Amino acid sequence: MAGLSLALFLKKAGITAVVYEAYPEFKNSGLAFTIAPNGMNVMNELGLAEEIIRGGNVISAYQFRNAKGKPIVRMRTGPVEKYGQPAVLLSRFVLHSLLYKTAAENGIEVNYNKKLIAITEDKHRVTAHFADGTQTEGTLLIGADGIHSATRLLTFPDAPKPAYVGFYGTGGLLNINGVDNGEKLCREDLTLVYGSGGFFGYGFDKADELLWWSSLAVPEDEVKQFITTATDGKIREILLNIFKDYHSPVPELIGKTKKFAQTISYELGELGKWHKGRVLLIGDAGHALSTTSGQGASMAFEDAILLAKLLRDNTLTNYEEAFCRFEKERRPRLQKFREAAKKGNSDKKVSSAFGLFVMEKMMKFFIGIFGENGLKWQYGYKIHWRNKN
Ligand SMILES: Cc1cc2nc3c(=O)[nH]c(=O)nc-3n(C[C@H](O)[C@H](O)[C@H](O)COP(=O)(O)OP(=O)(O)OC[C@H]3O[C@@H](n4cnc5c(N)ncnc54)[C@H](O)[C@@H]3O)c2cc1C
Repeated sequence: MAGLSLALFLKKAGITAVVYEAYPEFKNSGLAFTIAPNGMNVMNELGLAEEIIRGGNVISAYQFRNAKGKPIVRMRTGPVEKYGQPAVLLSRFVLHSLLYKTAAENGIEVNYNKKLIAITEDKHRVTAHFADGTQTEGTLLIGADGIHSATRLLTFPDAPKPAYVGFYGTGGLLNINGVDNGEKLCREDLTLVYGSGGFFGYGFDKADELLWWSSLAVPEDEVKQFITTATDGKIREILLNIFKDYHSPVPELIGKTKKFAQTISYELGELGKWHKGRVLLIGDAGHALSTTSGQGASMAFEDAILLAKLLRDNTLTNYEEAFCRFEKERRPRLQKFREAAKKGNSDKKVSSAFGLFVMEKMMKFFIGIFGENGLKWQYGYKIHWRNKN
């Protein structure tokens, strides 16, 4: 997400970028995810917002419920007029396909099977070395290679490693026609369920498809062992046992899922620096947030537009100034998200009846008072491509 969107903004800035991807080919991976209004505003600067809305589902509110299904509080994500764009839940494949298609239309070269394994640099150039024995040179190397970034490891060997957030994540996609009373589910809400078994969320990622996901607080060793051996049947059995008393359609969604996605959630502590010489980290490579934030992709998009703007306005030869300003501008915002995600993670770990009772009251109270305004700093942030920095 960070790499392709950066290449597209650089193209707008008149700077040639080439993308190198470790995967051998374009493939359909991951389920669905939310792009927050601030991320959608960046996509709009690339002219992609309308297509994303068409390919996904607009989410108007987060509906918090308890396990029995009782509504705790409903928090709107908009209105759209306030932030310019809505929040959209869509399939990763739809977004990836759109970014690749747009890159191809813009003549951006994307090379597959190029796993970065080493970086060398002299006064004038930086060289990326790949696992297939090839290499390539350029003026700058932007590491957009995700949470387990090789660029980060090679450039800052002492940087903190991704840390386990404490959750085993599972999820699935279901055609709504196969779900009892599926047509009665609210299409514009993302439902977030807090109960003693664990967290469960669901919402539509397109007209006839429903995404669900769950987070269970499990020790890291157990997750690592489980994830390598678990069959779909075993996952279904365990989840059904945990979520059997949750409101409808939770047990049904689990029971009818054929293929389960599994994740181990990691986050990255704050790095002392994001750039060194001609190398800079963006997206998850520099600042992976816990998945609870729902902002990882939007942060990658914001990085992309800002960096391209700074390189446009400072010119490539003055890249150091651009890198320094990039870090200075992005760090405080990322730090604020990191702190907000900590709170989201601790809510998901509450399991005692008393803890859940207190959490419900707190949610009602705080979201009731600050709710939609509390989202303003996240969603109301805009980087305009046309303005000069
Ligand atoms: C379960 C889950 C749910 C999430 N939900 C949301 C959500 O709802 N909303 C949201 O905004 N974010 C969400 N996120 C976070 C979001 O997916 C990330 O923040 C986002 O993908 C970061 O984009 P990126 O481009 O920095 O990294 P990535 O998307 O990870 O892309 C990195 C790319 O680099 C490639 N690569 C890796 N190593 C190398 C190498 N050595 N050489 C060459 N290429 C390499 C990878 O193959 C990949 O294509 C979620 C994450 C998870 C795991």
